[in-house]
Amino acid sequence: MVFLGTGGGRFATITQKRRTGGIRFLSEVFNMHLDPGPGALVYSLNMGLDPQKVTAVLVSHSHPDHYTDAEVFVEAMTRGMTKKRGALIASHSVLVGNDTCEPSISKYHQQMPKEVIEAKPGITFTLNDARILITEARHTDPDAIGLRLETGDMGDIAYTSDTEFFEGIGKQYQGVRLLILCILRPSGKPWKGHMTTDDAIKIVEEARPELALLTHFGMQMIFRGPEKEAQLIHEKTGVPTVAATDGMCVNVQKEIQIQGPKKKQRGLEDSLKTDYV
Ligand SMILES: [Zn+2]
Ligand SMILES: [Zn+2]
Repeated sequence: MVFLGTGGGRFATITQKRRTGGIRFLSEVFNMHLDPGPGALVYSLNMGLDPQKVTAVLVSHSHPDHYTDAEVFVEAMTRGMTKKRGALIASHSVLVGNDTCEPSISKYHQQMPKEVIEAKPGITFTLNDARILITEARHTDPDAIGLRLETGDMGDIAYTSDTEFFEGIGKQYQGVRLLILCILRPSGKPWKGHMTTDDAIKIVEEARPELALLTHFGMQMIFRGPEKEAQLIHEKTGVPTVAATDGMCVNVQKEIQIQGPKKKQRGLEDSLKTDYV
């Protein structure tokens, strides 16, 4: 996994105090971009991660810090809209729209991926060898979703997306090795529809992953210091917790390894099989 951004919410996005490019998942069998917000394309190129090698784009909900670069990634994935290729997985709001959000990927872009999957809580599908289970999120976009990626050998990796705490949220992530939490606000600063450190403590306590990884920091979180908040979660739950940084790489093998930003990631991608083309 490469974190092309660890910022979230309006002011972190506007100011780019933290980047907002989302997360690239690279494995031997697939290359997925999750939540390509502003900067996803540019930082992807900047880090040597070729957008044309992407085989799946997943957009968890219809807010700009998650969707702005999605159409460009669809264009890259489909070789400039010339080849039916790859998978687009997105919430109902992103594909169709709802009462509060317009669709954020045009019909033109929705017809080119080989597969388009409307992500609703409870559905599962496979991307090559990996299985993805869509989980429930409760956010200001009522169609927002999270996900649980089941890799088989390397265990499960999950992503909450933007959500508030609700009864049962942690249960969806029990047994995962790595839990990525979109934690917009620090402890003591609640905001409806969003996650604070206090909420994250409850979720991590229930899910008990091998490692909790924090990302999607809003301005108040950035000023408070995400590392301090990670420390607090670790102290309260006993679960090792790390605050992600822009450009950080996480390698899930027998152990979960974390590396600081590297300028180029070319080696990672070249090892990918290209049979999903
Ligand atoms: Zn967000
Ligand atoms: Zn949102």
